[in-house]
Amino acid sequence: MCEYENCIEIENRPIYFLVGENGCWLPLRHFIEPKGYVQIKWKGKLKRLHRLMYEFINDIILPSNIHVRHKVCDNPTCFNPFHLAQGTAYDNSQDKKDHGRQPMGEQIYNSKLTDAAVIEIRSSAGKTIKELADKYGVGISCIRNALKGKTWKHVGNAKKKGKKRSARMPDKPPAKRNDGYIDKELLKITKPLN
Ligand SMILES: [Zn+2]
Repeated sequence: MCEYENCIEIENRPIYFLVGENGCWLPLRHFIEPKGYVQIKWKGKLKRLHRLMYEFINDIILPSNIHVRHKVCDNPTCFNPFHLAQGTAYDNSQDKKDHGRQPMGEQIYNSKLTDAAVIEIRSSAGKTIKELADKYGVGISCIRNALKGKTWKHVGNAKKKGKKRSARMPDKPPAKRNDGYIDKELLKITKPLN
């Protein structure tokens, strides 16, 4: 059962999210693949959340050759069903061309960040991800990915594995905890129901 406002139940399982730029839904309980897609554990298997959402809303199971595309936002992390459409791999690659998606940095997802901002973000110790997201006017996952070096790889001062993290930075959810992990820090900024 959902206990907070930004939440949708898929077969009785609550998925909490933040509403990002363009109305994108950015899940709080998640594991993000390097390509930016969100995986959740679903019926014993890993499944991409946006695909699961699309199938659930439309009450269909798609064959594997049919892709679920981000038609509105081009943000692979988003699972807002109104931003999704089905299509072939060809459609998907056309979407990327139409959105002008480039392999790195300032071109990614029509990013509001710049190389300079990323360097600043990565060197701002003691700030929470939420504070950084507000400061730069971007989504939580955008900051998180930049910090981890999943995006902006070419900028080069990402937090390396094993390096000491700032005490106030919420811990990265390890892959094995992706089922049931909720970032309490992030959840505080969504409104409780009732
Ligand atoms: Zn979206």
